[in-house]
Amino acid sequence: MVNPLAGLPAVHRLLADEKLQQARELHGAAAVRAAVREALSAARQRLAQGEPTPPPPTLVADAMALLARREAAAYPEVLNATGVLIHTNLGRAPRVAADASGYLALEYDLGTGARGERLAPVVDRLNRYFGAEAATVVTNNAAALMLLLAAHAAGREVIVSRGELIEIGGSFRLPEIMAASGAHLVEVGCTNRTHPEDYARAVGEGTAAILVVHRSNFHLQGFVATPELRDLVKLGHARGVPVWVDEGSGCHLDLARYGLRREPTVQEILAAGADAVVFSGDKLLAGPQAGVLLGNNSTIAPLRRHPLRRALRPDKSALVALAATLDAYLAGRPEAVPLYRLLALPEAGLRARARRLARRLREAGLPAEAAATRAVLGGGTTPDQTLPSWGVALPGGDVTAARLRKATPAVVGRVEDNKVVLDLRAVLPEQDRRLLHALLAALRG
Ligand SMILES: *Cc1c(COP(=O)(O)O)cnc(C)c1O
Repeated sequence: MVNPLAGLPAVHRLLADEKLQQARELHGAAAVRAAVREALSAARQRLAQGEPTPPPPTLVADAMALLARREAAAYPEVLNATGVLIHTNLGRAPRVAADASGYLALEYDLGTGARGERLAPVVDRLNRYFGAEAATVVTNNAAALMLLLAAHAAGREVIVSRGELIEIGGSFRLPEIMAASGAHLVEVGCTNRTHPEDYARAVGEGTAAILVVHRSNFHLQGFVATPELRDLVKLGHARGVPVWVDEGSGCHLDLARYGLRREPTVQEILAAGADAVVFSGDKLLAGPQAGVLLGNNSTIAPLRRHPLRRALRPDKSALVALAATLDAYLAGRPEAVPLYRLLALPEAGLRARARRLARRLREAGLPAEAAATRAVLGGGTTPDQTLPSWGVALPGGDVTAARLRKATPAVVGRVEDNKVVLDLRAVLPEQDRRLLHALLAALRG
């Protein structure tokens, strides 16, 4: 009997191929050898399943394909046609362009040549925009909450309503964050209803704070009750207990401008007397990943000296982007921030773009149709609300969706009723041409 494996060439034989010799220049000898080994090992598996022995040119092509795949962008660009504006898996919101790749006066005072304060420019902007007494910034909101709890509540009790013990995607579970910080969770009220008296009864010697948590990712409806923040502040302060708010989404302007329901803003939460508010930098603030802490001096100042603060220090590119984002809001120009430009796109414009895109696709022989859709803000910010939008529907469901994910740039839509719907709400108008070209390249032929 013939051993079919004997038909495969040796590694060094394949490496002598001219194409692979050239590939060494680009990828390095070790990577090319690894790709050849991988191609051979895959061929061996196929042989074991009864497939024929591949000729050497096929094995070379397999190795070249592996090298090309390795070389592709680590985080490929995506055109977000999902209709979810703050899409955590796609990097949340698009953000203002702010370059921090070179040297910059990050912790350096150009006036004196002495060391400067790394967070000062961002803290100054946060204080001015939100009207806060004090501010600081860490890597993300989970870290902000962790720091607040560790600095002020380790070994003590923090009171939270049972209606607010949230889990958010990506393994943020409030009780677990609490436990990791060393604070003891005291649950009060019921899932649907919590009253001021519930908090009042729980306050005691060991109480470090009352914590109010934004209902991110879900909405309570029906027989529900939640105390007014002002009443909780009154209650807490009468008993010498601070009130903190994990606002999460970072709502900072009137969402009714964009056809959404008004939500309490961070500014209003501070004005209601909260001692501290924490929220994400990359949800409704539409900046970089960051965790913002605002509040009174006596709450924020000790955080600056806490050892965790150093461990949670934001990257320079996040600080530069955060400052640029805040500058747009301070100038009264939210539409300079991509998320608010997308939110402000009028429905008629989206409809015209969807019709144009569908027409171009049909002209190329693809059966596309414009369709009215509903988009969502996402990121857990307004879980029960949708926005009017328009998109293009293509046949072929999952198969088409898979082809579009392989386009350059990748196009990610949603599959509904065996169709792929490409929602334009999260696509900037100047991206339409690239979207069309990516679709044509992926779907033709
Ligand atoms: C999103 C969110 C978090 C987590 O924020 P990250 O910035 O993703 O760490 C925490 N709490 C609430 C209420 C949130 O909405």
